[in-house]
Amino acid sequence: DSTMRLHVLVARLGTRFVLLLAEDRTEAHRLDEVRRDFVANISHELKTPIASVSLLAEAIEQASDEPDQVRRFAGRLSTEATRLARITSEVIELSRLQARDALRPDALVSIDEVVAEAVDQNRIVAAAKHIDVAVRVAAGAKVYGDRALIIVAVHNLISNAIAYSNDGGRVGVGVRVEDDAVEIAITDQGIGIGPDDLDRVFERFFRVDQARSRNTGGSGLGLSIVKHTVQNHGGDVRVWSRPGRGSTFVIRLPLAEEAPRAADAEGSPD
Ligand code: ADP
Repeated sequence: DSTMRLHVLVARLGTRFVLLLAEDRTEAHRLDEVRRDFVANISHELKTPIASVSLLAEAIEQASDEPDQVRRFAGRLSTEATRLARITSEVIELSRLQARDALRPDALVSIDEVVAEAVDQNRIVAAAKHIDVAVRVAAGAKVYGDRALIIVAVHNLISNAIAYSNDGGRVGVGVRVEDDAVEIAITDQGIGIGPDDLDRVFERFFRVDQARSRNTGGSGLGLSIVKHTVQNHGGDVRVWSRPGRGSTFVIRLPLAEEAPRAADAEGSPD
């Protein structure tokens, strides 16, 4: 689409050609910088858990006569390994999303199903913290896109809502149709996010409280995966929050146009 526009402009305004090329170069340069930052961030994020793993392995070797110590170190080693695995898979997911400019919207995705699935994936974690996840869906909203990716995005928001809530808290998931878009809102009454951090939470590797997030196993990538997924689907994600009161994240996705008759007939029993 942008190449198309470029061609038309070149034809009409020959003299502007140089300017356009320069702009294109600036964009390429910016993307290059983003990529370099990303690699630097990943290296930094991986260094700590890798260092822990080798230290713990050494400690286990030296403590071989003391089974209790060995067990304790082995437990921590396993925690660090899980963390490494999680960061690695999130990095892969995120770089795949970033490699795509826009998604080819081929499949019709039911938002009610996506939400039900994402809530289901979080049931055990919610139950462990005695958190009630209340769901309100607007039957029938559909979007074009990648079902698995949209599930991951909704899952990440629900899992954060649970992770940053106190035991016994309440999490709400609501779906509503607004004009030509569907909104999925995830609300919690948890710790909230301060105004200074609010703009930054969608950045890669950003965590409000490094130490606490580390304890919860957070990598700081969950929300940037949400942002990229939603943007690839032509939508956006926004957040409202008050420290100590809770947060609301809202994903907005363009509704699919009326499904063709043939597709309707497929779903109806006859
Ligand atoms: P993480 O894996 O650390 O949760 P995210 O990218 O999902 O990474 O979130 C980035 C940071 O934003 C988190 O570390 C946390 O500080 C903050 N955050 C995200 N969701 C919430 C929420 N529902 N309530 C409070 N803080 C949140």
